[in-house]
Amino acid sequence: MSEGRLGALCGVDPVVCRGVSAVLERLAGSDVEDAVRGSRVLVSGGAGFLGSWLVDALYALGAERITVVDNLSTGSAENLAHLLGTGRVELVERPVEALEPMKGYDYVIHMAARPSPDDYVEHPVETLLVSSRGTEVMLESARLSDAVFLLTSTSEVYGHAEVIPTPETYWGRVNPVGPRSCYDEGKRYAEALTVAYMRQHGLDVRISRIFNTYGPRLDWRNPGYGRVVVKFVAQALRGEPLTVHGTGRQTRSFLYAADNIEAHLRLLSPRPSLRGAIVNIGSSDEVTILELAELVLRLTGSRAGVVHTPPRPEDPPRRRPDISRARSLLGWEPRTGLEEGLRETIEWMRPRLG
Ligand code: UDP
Repeated sequence: MSEGRLGALCGVDPVVCRGVSAVLERLAGSDVEDAVRGSRVLVSGGAGFLGSWLVDALYALGAERITVVDNLSTGSAENLAHLLGTGRVELVERPVEALEPMKGYDYVIHMAARPSPDDYVEHPVETLLVSSRGTEVMLESARLSDAVFLLTSTSEVYGHAEVIPTPETYWGRVNPVGPRSCYDEGKRYAEALTVAYMRQHGLDVRISRIFNTYGPRLDWRNPGYGRVVVKFVAQALRGEPLTVHGTGRQTRSFLYAADNIEAHLRLLSPRPSLRGAIVNIGSSDEVTILELAELVLRLTGSRAGVVHTPPRPEDPPRRRPDISRARSLLGWEPRTGLEEGLRETIEWMRPRLG
């Protein structure tokens, strides 16, 4: 049933179709369905990895008009190609920070960002501007539209957290001038500006703090965009050794994209308890990078092993969210185990590596 609502997606991309269909099934009968149907949505970063998953889901839920603003720096128009001829989805190919605020939306969602450490250390100014000026443009758009505003923030606001699992009440331990500060401090400013608009203008805002997320459409082609899961899968499928930075004993908790998108859609519910909500969205299963590497080698059947490369400067040693707030406030929890999500990702990447 959901396949019809998904338009051409299932024909062009069966793996993403499967993920979005599962999300639609979980949301069936919820207030999110009613709220999104017929709505007008402005999404920055909507051609990117998570942005395009969200746009597919919003389209399937019956959003009337979806305006995507994206400069395609880390995203790709290919992620939206199946939607652009439908008359309901448009792509404005510009940096969000260069736009005038826009009116006429029910939801304004600011997802544009450069979240990959290998990429943002090369583009620290752009990384800060999309979170500073870009957030300002999107918040003004929400204020002029009287829309619900959603900011996708990051676990990086916690920096080198001393409290693991990390709850939303933790204030963070961040180096304001370190190599990661362009991303961390940009997002911390974006959060501060978002709550300032709520306090001063009464705007209905929500903030998600996204922990490591992976899946189809995460950029693996660009060698400067090295998110670990897709980088490892690409290396394994090419028969190259997996590049483990440092000892590989650092940890992350990896969430599959479909689960992430379900949580974001739930955050769009009109329930009053969600006004001003700040919610961690991530997996509570913590693994070391070496364990991840071994799992990718096993699932791809690669025998190339790993090679240890120099550690990244200021690489957070551990990361795992406390997701009890997401469970209670959103009625959400991760459904896709790491092995299952990796199988989906491998199935998606294998033909594309060709
Ligand atoms: N990593 C690695 N090899 C790589 C790329 C990343 O060992 O080729 C490690 C990296 O040092 C970090 C973790 O994988 O500890 C996650 O890196 P990613 O770039 O995906 O995102 P982060 O969580 O650091 O923002």
